[in-house]
Amino acid sequence: MQADPLTPMMKQYLEIKRQYPDTILFYRMGDFYEMFLEDAVLASGILDIALTSRNKNDENPVPMCGVPYRSAQSYIARLIEKGHKVAVCEQTEDPAQAKGLVKREVVRIITPGMVVEEGLLDQSIHNFIAALWFEKQVAGVSILDLSTATFQVTESADLDAILEEIQRIAPRELLLSEKNRGQGVWKVLEERIPDLLISPISEDRFSFSDARDLLCRHFQTLSLEGFGCGHLHAGIAAAGALFGYVEQTQKQSLNHITRIVPYDLSGFLILDEATCRNLELLKNLHYNGRQGTLLDVLDQTVSAMGARLMRQWIRYPLRDRKAICERLDAVSEAVAQPSLRKSVREQLKQIGDLERIAARIALDRCSPRDFLSLKASILALPESVRLLREFSSPLLDVAAIDGSLGALLDMAGLIDRAIREDAPPALQEGGVIKAGYDPELDELIDMHLHTRDYLMELEAREKQGTSINSLKVRYNKVFGYYIEIPKSQIQAVPAHYVRKQTLVNAERYITDELKQFELKISGAQERRIAIETRLFQELRETVGAHIREIQQASAFLARLDSLFALAEAADRYAYCKPEIGDVGEIHIDEGRHPVIERFLPEGRFVPNSLVLDNTANQVLIITGPNMAGKSTILRQTALQVIMVHIGSWVPARHAVICLTDRIFTRIGALDNIASGQSTFLVEMQETANILNNATPKSLVILDEIGRGTSTYDGFSIAWAVAGYLHDLRDAGVKTLFATHYHEMTELERFKPRVKNFSIAVREKKETIVFLHKLLKGGTSRSYGIQVAKLAGIPETVIQHARSVLRDIEEGTHCFSGPAKPVKTAGKPVSEQIPFFESVEHPAIGKLKALDVMNMTPLEALNCLHELFMLVSETSL
Ligand code: ADP
Ligand code: MG
Repeated sequence: MQADPLTPMMKQYLEIKRQYPDTILFYRMGDFYEMFLEDAVLASGILDIALTSRNKNDENPVPMCGVPYRSAQSYIARLIEKGHKVAVCEQTEDPAQAKGLVKREVVRIITPGMVVEEGLLDQSIHNFIAALWFEKQVAGVSILDLSTATFQVTESADLDAILEEIQRIAPRELLLSEKNRGQGVWKVLEERIPDLLISPISEDRFSFSDARDLLCRHFQTLSLEGFGCGHLHAGIAAAGALFGYVEQTQKQSLNHITRIVPYDLSGFLILDEATCRNLELLKNLHYNGRQGTLLDVLDQTVSAMGARLMRQWIRYPLRDRKAICERLDAVSEAVAQPSLRKSVREQLKQIGDLERIAARIALDRCSPRDFLSLKASILALPESVRLLREFSSPLLDVAAIDGSLGALLDMAGLIDRAIREDAPPALQEGGVIKAGYDPELDELIDMHLHTRDYLMELEAREKQGTSINSLKVRYNKVFGYYIEIPKSQIQAVPAHYVRKQTLVNAERYITDELKQFELKISGAQERRIAIETRLFQELRETVGAHIREIQQASAFLARLDSLFALAEAADRYAYCKPEIGDVGEIHIDEGRHPVIERFLPEGRFVPNSLVLDNTANQVLIITGPNMAGKSTILRQTALQVIMVHIGSWVPARHAVICLTDRIFTRIGALDNIASGQSTFLVEMQETANILNNATPKSLVILDEIGRGTSTYDGFSIAWAVAGYLHDLRDAGVKTLFATHYHEMTELERFKPRVKNFSIAVREKKETIVFLHKLLKGGTSRSYGIQVAKLAGIPETVIQHARSVLRDIEEGTHCFSGPAKPVKTAGKPVSEQIPFFESVEHPAIGKLKALDVMNMTPLEALNCLHELFMLVSETSL
């Protein structure tokens, strides 16, 4: 680059690029956005467009690629999708007027966390940008969804809880102080949230007092007390940094953000990431899709706003009894009125995504169709309000929107007068504003309509006057309007025709009349578009002044839609209204799994009853063969507890469920091969988390813990963990413990609140039938061979296994001997060397290795316990 001096344009480009180093700069040149240098190399690869170069013949050609400005949005979308930021640089003066190089400026920065365009967003999911800040041992988090004006803040002294919260939020972009770069938190978050874009910003942007001032100025309040944020410090610092960053990159005021909502992490039932994943609340374990999830069953919403809220409700189940009961009661009312519910839902289907439309209007990114959708939505409101007057739940109280209904209807009326029903999606071509809305525009529309008529009439008139039948009136961009006459007929051309252009076969003329007409018509289309644009902007401003009313209505409608969706699920799938117990008891009568039952034919799911409490039935050890239904009963119990906390009815005949602070799960479902971690290590990490954080108000689900290691290790761990949970903080924690180690049933003898359960199977000749019924008492058999047979293992293998098992049970199998020949029927061949003679029992080896003289009493005790385990393991 040194050798050849930069062109003025490249100088300008580099100057702008220098200010936005971490973005891909879209540099507007005429009808294109061009990208240069490394941006061009990067973008052309992602967008799959040609990489060319500027000044090809120079020694140092500049790599370059470009996209047409009209279709820029889809290209930007792909870059954002890949986690890049795009700075849009426009020409800020008219090239025709510019002296020298056209002025250019970045007008907006689009990052993954700051998208508002409809086409770039999933309508059922929030798009959050978040900021995290630490101050005096407290971590503050603030989140903002620019597309819905959701702005929230929380803080906690528990760093783990905050990290969990960020995972729960799953932001697309996170602001962190520059000084955190490369530190623990940064790395942890990068690891845990693979798609996350972390944007470092300078530390001094997290100043509390600046943040408070900025937010007070924006909300026009004296303090943040009115929002309930008076006690927050680190949180507000994060919120201020976030708000300032968004405002600056958007380069406009964020008028649609009308409040900041603080929330307290302890106000929700905590479901850590592993639990959310294991229980398949929002995504299934197989391909991260929605099928087979709790969300899929409960989300019967009919609007985008409702769908987003339902997702939030599932991710943030409540813990406040009053709030839960309020939701349950509202759902009950809606269940009780099926025909009213149906009518209300019909109305809701008419309603567009008001939240996002409001945001686009405020941010000046709205399309004519947004207004049409807004109008249709408002017009559906009065009927909904009328229907809802039948309900008494405070959550369905129409007073919440009654007040703004008048203003909204006025707005709909205005939109109706202004915007044509067939308006195109963009303003550029005009045809947006209705006739009769503006007199000046009407004249232009009129002229446009009459142009063709007039020209046809003129052509006919001239043909008649000149008797030239092939005479045509035409228009082109260079010469404007003209009359064209074939060379063969030019002798008949009247004297007042003025020749303008000569072609091979024809002559083109102009007349005074045509000239007059042209003067009038010229620029009419541009004028029309200019006027339409102005009127559209005026409408946008008028409507923009009522953003708050639109937001109030949309918040109400989202809640309504979600509550009615819960009612719909309850009614459709025959759920019952649960009671919230207060003695710490979970009592489910004939409960079902909300998701699995959906995949079985009606009535085929076997319901099960279960009681968990803190007095006698605290740790339930559930044994049974593979495929019996152990995991199912564990999951369905956890799901029912979650459903209650959401305010949903549950799939059971009757249920009493106590308020719960956290649900922990350890489910050995899928190996975490993708992340490269050893299954057993992950299993133990999750178990450690449970042992360290469970409280007597939690619910713990442990499914086949210890499976990932050798039998002895695994069993010992399972035994110790179950005992620990029983004794936790001298009170214990409600635990469901599914295991294939039937020796675990022994624990009942040692711990008073442990109870054994098993899942019934019926033996039928040499095979088994799964009854899926939970029964009191343990099992002593695992039926592994029968299950293998059901799975289609060849008969000779099954026979062999059966005879080995028999020998082991009789203590006669030789582990080191060759595979004995199998007799397909009849008695076992008993010519083996007996089991205990052939191999030394592992306990003996262990005993011999002990250094008894150097053991502490505790070590000795532990060792004795281990030896006991070894012996009881192999004697079965
Ligand atoms: P386990 O954990 O004991 O191996 P699962 O809970 O995974 O067994 O259940 C295996 C399969 O059995 C499930 O996928 C389901 O199809 C079926 N099943 C489980 N419980 C029931 C039930 N209560 N009613 C009907 N089918 C069930
Ligand atoms: Mg299982």
